Amino acid sequence: MYDTAEDHAEIRDALRALCAEFPAEYHRRIDAEGAYPEDFVDALTRNGWLAALIPEEYGGAGLGLTEASVIMEEINRSGGNSGACHGQMYNMNTLVRHGSEEQRRTYLPRIASGELRLQSMGVTEPTTGTDTTKIKTTAERRGDRYVINGQKVWISRVQHSDLMILLARTTPLAEVRKKSEGLSIFLVDIAEAMQAGMEVRPIRNMVGHETNELFFENLEIPADNLIGEEGKGFRYILTGLNAERVLIAAECIGDGRWFVEKATGYARDREVFGRPIGQNQGVQFPIAEAHVEVEAASLMRFEACRKFDAGAACGAEANMAKYLAAKASWEAANACLQVHGGYGFAHEYDVERKFRETRLYQVAPISTNLILSYVAEHVLGLPRSF
Ligand SMILES: Cc1cc2nc3c(=O)[nH]c(=O)nc-3n(C[C@H](O)[C@H](O)[C@H](O)COP(=O)(O)OP(=O)(O)OC[C@H]3O[C@@H](n4cnc5c(N)ncnc54)[C@H](O)[C@@H]3O)c2cc1C
Repeated sequence: MYDTAEDHAEIRDALRALCAEFPAEYHRRIDAEGAYPEDFVDALTRNGWLAALIPEEYGGAGLGLTEASVIMEEINRSGGNSGACHGQMYNMNTLVRHGSEEQRRTYLPRIASGELRLQSMGVTEPTTGTDTTKIKTTAERRGDRYVINGQKVWISRVQHSDLMILLARTTPLAEVRKKSEGLSIFLVDIAEAMQAGMEVRPIRNMVGHETNELFFENLEIPADNLIGEEGKGFRYILTGLNAERVLIAAECIGDGRWFVEKATGYARDREVFGRPIGQNQGVQFPIAEAHVEVEAASLMRFEACRKFDAGAACGAEANMAKYLAAKASWEAANACLQVHGGYGFAHEYDVERKFRETRLYQVAPISTNLILSYVAEHVLGLPRSF
C-alpha cells in the first residue's frame, strides 16, 4: 500500500479497532432494514473521529484533510459505508472556513461533542440538476430574517442531522454579472424548519442511503444564519466541494482495497478443477489491475490533500482524485463480483452490497462527465461547453 511519508498507522489502527466492533453482519442488517447506522455513527463521534477537521480551540482534533481522508478510507475498507456520516466532515469545513467567529463558537464545540450533527448539505434541485448556478430556491431578506421558498432533491441525512447547510439564490440571476454570483449559504436548524415551512419526503433508493426531497414554503430563518457574505455562497460551496471530492475519493479507495482483499482471499481459497481459482491468470489479472488502479488513485488523493491542507488551489487534483478513485473502486467491484462467481450475488458475502454502494460515486456527488468537463476546460484550457 502506498502512502505519504508517514503512513498514519496510529489513525488506521485505532479506526480498525473501532470498526471491528461493527462487523459485516451489522452493516448487512442495516442495509437489509434500510436503517441508519446510529450506533456506528455515535461510536465514531464519541471517539472524536467526526470532529477531525474542527480546530482544537473549538473542541475538535484539529487535523487536516489528509488525516480525514484516512479516516473515511478506513471506514469503507472495514466493510462499512462512510455515506452515513461523511457529510459532517465536509460540511464542517465550510463552517470552519467561512463561518463567523460567533457561529464557530456557537456550533463547533457542540458538534465536536456530538450534541449536534451537521450531516446535511442542500444543493441539488430537481429542475436544474448539475447546473447548480441556475437553482431556483430563493432566500429573500426581510428585516432580521430570510424567507426561503423552493425545492431540493437528494438531500441526504436530513432525518439524522440537526443542522443543514443550504444553498439558495439571494439575488435574481437576471441581476448578477456572473451566474455564480448572488447565491448564499445558510445554516438551517432542521427540527425548527420542519415546524415552520420545510417538508421532508424520503426517497427510497438502491443503496439504502437516507436521502430526501425537501419543499420550502415561506420558511423563515434568522438572518444571523447566513454563512459569510451574502452573494458569495457559490464560492464557499466550491471550497467545501473540493474537500468532499477528496473525501469521496478516499472512500472509494477504502472500497477498492476492500474489494481487492476480498477477491484475493476468495481466489486463494476457492478450488475448482482441483486447484485454487487464483492460480489462473484469467482470474489473477483483473484483481491485479484493480489493485494497480486503486493504489494510483490513492497517490492522487494524497496530492489533493497536500494542496488543500497547504491552502493551495486544488480543484484539478480533487477532481482527478475523485475520477480515478471512483473508476478504480468500480472496476475492483466488478473484478471482486466476478471472482466470487454465483456467491458474489449472495447477501452474506457482502460483495453485492459494497458493489451497489460504490457504484453511486460515478454519479454523486459529481458525475464522471462533469469531472472530465472540468479537466477539459480548467486544466487543458479547451473551450467552455456549457
Ligand atoms: C444517493 C444520493 C445522495 C445524494 N446526496 C446529496 C446531498 O446530500 N446533497 C445534494 O445537494 N445533492 C445530493 N445528491 C445529488 C447528486 O449530487 C446529483 O444527483 C448529481 O450531482 C447529479 O445531478 P442530477 O442527478 O440532477 O443529474 P443531471 O444533472 O440531470 O445529469 C444526468 C446525467 O447527464 C450528465 N450530464 C449533464 N449535463 C452534462 C453535460 N453538460 N455534459 C456531459 N454530461 C452531462 C451527467 O453527467 C449525468 O450522468 C445525491 C444523489 C444521490 C443519488
